[in-house]
Amino acid sequence: MNTGLFSCRLFAAVLPAVLLSFASFSAQGAEPLSGGTRVIAHRGYWNTEGSAQNSIAALKKAQALGIYGAEFDINRTLDGRLVVAHGPKEQNVELQKVNYDVVAELRLKNGEKVPLLEDYLKCGKKDKQTRLVLELKPHDTPELESVAVQEVVKMVKKYKVAAQMDFISFSLHACQEFARLMPESSVAYLGGEFTPAELKKMGINGLDYHYSWFEKHPEWVEEAHRLGMTVNVWTISSREQLQKMIDLGVDFLTTNDPVLAKELLTR
Ligand code: MG
Repeated sequence: MNTGLFSCRLFAAVLPAVLLSFASFSAQGAEPLSGGTRVIAHRGYWNTEGSAQNSIAALKKAQALGIYGAEFDINRTLDGRLVVAHGPKEQNVELQKVNYDVVAELRLKNGEKVPLLEDYLKCGKKDKQTRLVLELKPHDTPELESVAVQEVVKMVKKYKVAAQMDFISFSLHACQEFARLMPESSVAYLGGEFTPAELKKMGINGLDYHYSWFEKHPEWVEEAHRLGMTVNVWTISSREQLQKMIDLGVDFLTTNDPVLAKELLTR
């Protein structure tokens, strides 16, 4: 065998893996790796003193943990403000059916106002190591969802945080709109009913499914990776479920217990 040619081929084969592991190391900050699995705090790190779901405090506490990212939910009010809240109702207020002034009166469990997307992004921008995993909630019509996606993208560009964003949605239409307008970003569908290949054909580069889907179809993890797609799983918080999904080799654990998930990955 020509050893020079062999070394060249070996170098060419190994180089992408080296570059890829360097890229993933820089993207995920200080969090230790275990088989590449990383942690996303579901609605931020809220399950702790002084925090609340989808609050700025929950984002700051997720940033302090040094994990991959904080997930948060977005609804668009009747007068077109993008608010960070799960909905459809927040304390009996139907977020998409009222103007923002009604939402502005509400207080979260930790005393904060319901954050506006711009406030969340401004806080997120202060720590570039923590990714912002934006879930756009389904809206009444595809037209409304298109408008919401356009406004999110406009704001993400205004605050120059595009490189920090991942997008997720239960709305296939919203996912496709994000993929169209932000082709460099990771966009994952939450619904669960499509195989990785089917999603890929629809232009979506990630799956973010309830863990029961991966219990039924563990082969989807490998299939997705073969297709160059990311695999995220929600919402798992018990030690047993977390370990099962780590062993399956998913890329992201979306969890209400990011401290435990981080501990399992550090061991
Ligand atoms: Mg969510």
